[in-house]
Amino acid sequence: MFNVEHIRQDFPILHRQVNGKPLVYLDNAATSQTPQAVIDAIVDYYSNYNANIHRGVHSLSQEATDAYEEARIKIQHHFNAKFSHEIIFTSGTTHGINLVANGFSSLLKKGDEIIVSALEHHSNIVPWQMLCERSGATLKVIPMNLEGELIMSEYDKLLSAHTKLVFVNHISNALGTINPIKYIIDEAHKVGAAVLIDGAQSCPHIKPDVQALDVDFYVTSAHKMCGPTGEGMLYGKEDWLNKLPPYQGGGEMIDQVTFEKTTYAGLPHKFEAGTPNICGGIAFGAAIDYMNGIGFDAIADYEHELLEYATAKLSEIEGLKIYGTSKQKTSVVSFNLEGIHPYDVGTILDKLGIAVRTGHHCAQPIMDFYKIPGTVRASFAFYNTKEEVDTLVTGVKKAKMMLS
Ligand SMILES: *Cc1c(COP(=O)(O)O)cnc(C)c1O
Repeated sequence: MFNVEHIRQDFPILHRQVNGKPLVYLDNAATSQTPQAVIDAIVDYYSNYNANIHRGVHSLSQEATDAYEEARIKIQHHFNAKFSHEIIFTSGTTHGINLVANGFSSLLKKGDEIIVSALEHHSNIVPWQMLCERSGATLKVIPMNLEGELIMSEYDKLLSAHTKLVFVNHISNALGTINPIKYIIDEAHKVGAAVLIDGAQSCPHIKPDVQALDVDFYVTSAHKMCGPTGEGMLYGKEDWLNKLPPYQGGGEMIDQVTFEKTTYAGLPHKFEAGTPNICGGIAFGAAIDYMNGIGFDAIADYEHELLEYATAKLSEIEGLKIYGTSKQKTSVVSFNLEGIHPYDVGTILDKLGIAVRTGHHCAQPIMDFYKIPGTVRASFAFYNTKEEVDTLVTGVKKAKMMLS
């Protein structure tokens, strides 16, 4: 049984005040809050078995190694990867994307094409531009429509024998649109292109099955799904990970080192140079356990209710325009008040204890498309309530009154 009041008890931060008002945290698409179970995992690690992994013969090191590798297996099962060595621990989505983009430098040549989408986060645009500069490949962009959806007929036209890679986010962070990634993956495979999906916004809401999707690479960050910052994962099909060269050199990632020649370790260690965020990996596993304990079906149903409620209530405000109106959407409402800068609205909401994001949300091309400087973005998690939506609506009305 999904009981939001019980769930809120798991999150200490939700009980604090901001500017003398109870915190209403609606910036979940930027980072999620951390349940006690994950905080406990972090405290337990540093209190009881902090040690470097894969190196020591001593017991502490063994315990830390076991916990870290257990977390990898949890992540493998969560995403239904075939092998645990297909899960590479990273510092987050950005790291995972750069790892793959760097690896492809040596696999691409002039005349090759990379397709990205108009709905991308900057972290999914810049590394590909850099890759194009290095390799001579060309970047193509799947355009979007006014509802904030990718236009699939245009995608079909961009695909050709020149296409080597396609990079799309599963869900847009700025608008909440859920992209038709199964179609995107299948069509890319027909021309022999590999696909990387940015799952930073999907993993807090749904449980992706990488084998059913047949995706080549899938990346995400722990901190958007109740885990710690500076931690994430890259899933890659074994064949692809074997084909890519290592990203960073250092300890952990080698087999044998001499000054003449170094041979690299096998997967996953080849991509995990240096001491990793050991505690972060373990806490990521705890976050996945926590979310599965609540259940992704229950989370999706409840968040959908919040989305519909917030959309209806905000739409009643005269002069308020919502950006991103796809039917396939997660619990994000991006909006503006006519003639008022989003930053000013955000500042007033903060005074009322309401945390929203304002600005371009690291997705300037989307803002350019709508010819706006940015939006106010309220993004809901499963621990938000309808009462909090009401507080937001009252706050927005107040901001409108004060600013117009
Ligand atoms: C947050 C986000 C990223 C970047 O994640 P980091 O944790 O900052 O590396 C990339 N893509 C999308 C869609 C995001 O929402």
